[in-house]
Amino acid sequence: MPTETNGLCPCGSQKEYRDCCGRFLEKKALPPTAEALMRSRYTAYVKGDLDYLVETDFHEVDREATKAWMQSATFYRLEILKVYRGKALDKKGRIEFKAWYRDEEGEERIHHELSDFEKYKGRWYYSGGLAAT
Ligand SMILES: [Zn+2]
Repeated sequence: MPTETNGLCPCGSQKEYRDCCGRFLEKKALPPTAEALMRSRYTAYVKGDLDYLVETDFHEVDREATKAWMQSATFYRLEILKVYRGKALDKKGRIEFKAWYRDEEGEERIHHELSDFEKYKGRWYYSGGLAAT
């Protein structure tokens, strides 16, 4: 197997991809916290992993709309601003984050969101988000 030269995870954790979101996207483990799920969903956007986004959403997802959004935006930086609960023993969590991306015209934009997460049968899901300002 070739060695990956640039193995850092896109989520900005400064960890190797395979020790960070890679485990979750490759279904080797489940994210233990809301933040881990949040980061892995961001990484799924970066990598174009639509199935992972659909699978980790508590609600039914409009695949076409999600795919269109994923393809129109090139995400390049994630910043977690605040984490409310969402620890391994919690049932709910909320995370405020900013994700930087370039749109189709190459303009730099920021997606600022308050996301809600819920744990169902031992697994964390994204359950909705509000645009923050
Ligand atoms: Zn990561």
